[in-house]
Amino acid sequence: MALFIIIRKFKRDIRIPINTGKIISKMDLNIDFEELKVNGIKVNYFFVCKRKLWLFDRNISMENKSDIVLLGKLLHEESYKRDKPKEVLIDNLISIDIVDSLNIREVKHSDKMEKADKMQILYYLYYLKKLGIHKKGILNYPRQRKREFIELTPEDEKEIEKTLIEIDKVLRQDKPPPAINAPYCKKCAYFEFCFV
Ligand code: SF4
Repeated sequence: MALFIIIRKFKRDIRIPINTGKIISKMDLNIDFEELKVNGIKVNYFFVCKRKLWLFDRNISMENKSDIVLLGKLLHEESYKRDKPKEVLIDNLISIDIVDSLNIREVKHSDKMEKADKMQILYYLYYLKKLGIHKKGILNYPRQRKREFIELTPEDEKEIEKTLIEIDKVLRQDKPPPAINAPYCKKCAYFEFCFV
């Protein structure tokens, strides 16, 4: 029978399985996925900027004003017209393009945030695996005429689990994390909120 330690944090508990006889490291954790699951955008934002993640979570949304976001939506719609994937909404939380029996897809306007994009699609693969569905991923950058093929490895699964724990920590903060002043801040929808 599995043993758990329970970390009480504000209103929610995180259940961490105990591997008896073995030191627990973050990389060994199996998480309570039902407690920690979030939408895919939040996984993406975690790797772009933790402040952005926090603001987005609090529904402080300025995304509609951003040309970049509008461009992304347009690209997505255009790409839809060509390939006609089936969009599936799961748990009212994540929306995934199912391209065929093997693959899911994410369309991005730029490859500058490749790590964030990759973690987002890996998270979708992880989410589907939790539902007993095994797929591979395609990251599609139509403007760069580039495609990346993604497979979920056991190491990726651990990284996703660690990420969900870290996202939870950020979202529990009372105040937003500090602005990061990154080169891409000027193109961020929250730029005025952070710097003006
Ligand atoms: S403007 Fe920069 S610091 Fe502010 S939310 Fe966007 S990326 Fe983060």
